[in-house]
Amino acid sequence: MSDFKFIEIPNENQWVISAPKRARRPESKKKTGCVFCPKEDPNNIELEKYRIGGEKGDPHWKIRVIQNKFPFAPIHDVVILTPEHVKHLSDVNVEQVRLGIETYVNRYNTYKKDGNVTIFGNAGQGSGESIGHPHAQIAVTPQEVALTVPRLEKEVSYRGEHFVVGEFELICPPYSQWPDEVWIIPQERGKTFGEVSYKEIESLSYVWHRIIKIFEIRHGHTFPHNFYIYPFSDWYVRIIPRAKIPGGFELATGVFVNTQDPHETMSFIKEHFAEAEEKKIRKNRAKYRRGV
Ligand SMILES: [Zn+2]
Repeated sequence: MSDFKFIEIPNENQWVISAPKRARRPESKKKTGCVFCPKEDPNNIELEKYRIGGEKGDPHWKIRVIQNKFPFAPIHDVVILTPEHVKHLSDVNVEQVRLGIETYVNRYNTYKKDGNVTIFGNAGQGSGESIGHPHAQIAVTPQEVALTVPRLEKEVSYRGEHFVVGEFELICPPYSQWPDEVWIIPQERGKTFGEVSYKEIESLSYVWHRIIKIFEIRHGHTFPHNFYIYPFSDWYVRIIPRAKIPGGFELATGVFVNTQDPHETMSFIKEHFAEAEEKKIRKNRAKYRRGV
């Protein structure tokens, strides 16, 4: 039997992936060591698809992409975001985040002809993560499998909840389903993620890293969260802290009860972004005074 099967829910235009073999995924708490650390076991080398840094078999890499051993799609990769066994994306530097995003773009463009490319991440306990080493995943699903993922509005009209940083706009939509969710939207709209510019990649790395650090103030280090990159035209990144578990009503109706005011989330982000900018300016001034 294949590892997975796509099944359409009758009369719903919604799909289910049946993948019972995934129940055998390794648990991160096992004492056998971490399969994403750079010890390069022969199995992992076989599964390697792409890397930044070092030749195949060389443990001195910066980013690695390997095939998921427990796939739920015809192409299902794992992007190992750092060789260091750290807890969270906030523990790596912005340059490493940039290499990760560069890898997503590369893989998106490699796979776009094969189906819908969804890039997503589960970080921290309670997010769906099974191995506690910073990583993301890429799943390419057949075109006919309908994905129900919210589209960006043509005009962003709720000016109270937005904030411009570099090439991007941060938004906490009034219709947020999850407490503290935030959308990162490129100022230049209408492109797919594969068309992102180098300048945008740089700007996005900084913004993404900052958002995680800011949410750590509120939810603690290694707080559980998910992200995804919208797979179609007019791309965006949505970051969702998992501060709540959907209840019976949400499961029954698909209607979410959000216990957090998105306006407040945006104020919190703005306040702490401003702090970081202020620190940067002070540091630069000090440098200037020292004549560095
Ligand atoms: Zn590890």
